[in-house]
Amino acid sequence: MNVQQNQAIGSNPGRTRLHNRRLVLEHVRAQQPVGRAQIARATRLSTQAVSNIIAELEGEGWLHETGRASNGRGLPAVLYALKASGAAALGVEVRPDAVLAALVDLIGKTRFTDRVELQSTDPAHVAEVVNQLKIEALSKSGIAARRLLGVGVVMPGPFGQVGLSDAGQSALPGWHGVDAQALFADTLKVPVVLEHDSIAAALAERVGGVAKELGTYCFIYFGTGVGLGVMNNGYMIRGAFGNAGELGHVVVQPGGNACACGNRGCLETYISRFSVQQHLQRHGIDIHSGDDLQVLFDQRQPALMHWLNEATTPLSHAIGILENLMDPATIIIGGAFPDDLFDYWIDKMVLPPGTLAERPDRHIARVMRGASGRMSATYGGAALIINDVFTPRIAAEAS
Ligand SMILES: [Zn+2]
Repeated sequence: MNVQQNQAIGSNPGRTRLHNRRLVLEHVRAQQPVGRAQIARATRLSTQAVSNIIAELEGEGWLHETGRASNGRGLPAVLYALKASGAAALGVEVRPDAVLAALVDLIGKTRFTDRVELQSTDPAHVAEVVNQLKIEALSKSGIAARRLLGVGVVMPGPFGQVGLSDAGQSALPGWHGVDAQALFADTLKVPVVLEHDSIAAALAERVGGVAKELGTYCFIYFGTGVGLGVMNNGYMIRGAFGNAGELGHVVVQPGGNACACGNRGCLETYISRFSVQQHLQRHGIDIHSGDDLQVLFDQRQPALMHWLNEATTPLSHAIGILENLMDPATIIIGGAFPDDLFDYWIDKMVLPPGTLAERPDRHIARVMRGASGRMSATYGGAALIINDVFTPRIAAEAS
């Protein structure tokens, strides 16, 4: 992948230009405010090339002057920084019961968020809901429509024709065989990137969460079901058909709970939002949102606490499997549950002894809670688009 990429960059002037532009933008993002000479030194581009790129980016409204460096001899250097409203990306998460949206600007600031309950998961209806959210996000944030780089739509998998498509409670009804990417692109009339919610959530932690310094880690994503995002040395693992990470249907209890996929003992039947909903229903309690779970948790409601305690065993088992399979720096848990529930699990869970993760030189926890909260996959959707502006490496893998 790296070799092919470098050859393409070396042999294609258009790609070289794009690559250099990303290098400059990435350096400004990391070091701003910053002058031309410093960018040239760091990117190994000529000062002239940097000047040309900066003039172009300034003309297009991506960068602006923020003053002059006062120290040193000679003419003080002009300093540049990213212009927050120069570009933005909309992250959209489609869940079976709701659509979540977050508009994030060029400096990573959230400019708009919203959550719309879904009356139906009919694809045309969902696409129209997303389109209305796009229009509202732009008008409420004051970001010009031409500044919207694209929309990162994240959904539960699996995508395409697989045996699991219609089976899980966590899958979206009515989307079997639908080309979701084409549907959203046609409706929204902007570039659309489609991604699994678990992979997007893992990316959100790398961009703005607990995985900032990490190249290799796992993210167990609690949406309606349970998914897995694996970052391996800076690349997301996708599988041959883009469906890697269907952790919810890994059997953790042979002969255990019946799952809609046809197997028994799937992880999803023990630790997902669907499973807690069912469990609470049997105790006469209906929950409709993460806030409802928070209220029950604050009361230490016995049925919820029983479920949480029972869930630690299959969760710990899954963590042991991942540690031995993937050798990650850490495993992050996060998603649709309130942070307090994840913290409770991390506090109570007895992790399996004797896995690869039991290293004497370990300096970070084996399991961490994600920092992006309940909208982690939504923010990850925006990150898929924004990252493409800056980081050639992640962008190449995300496309
Ligand atoms: Zn299953």
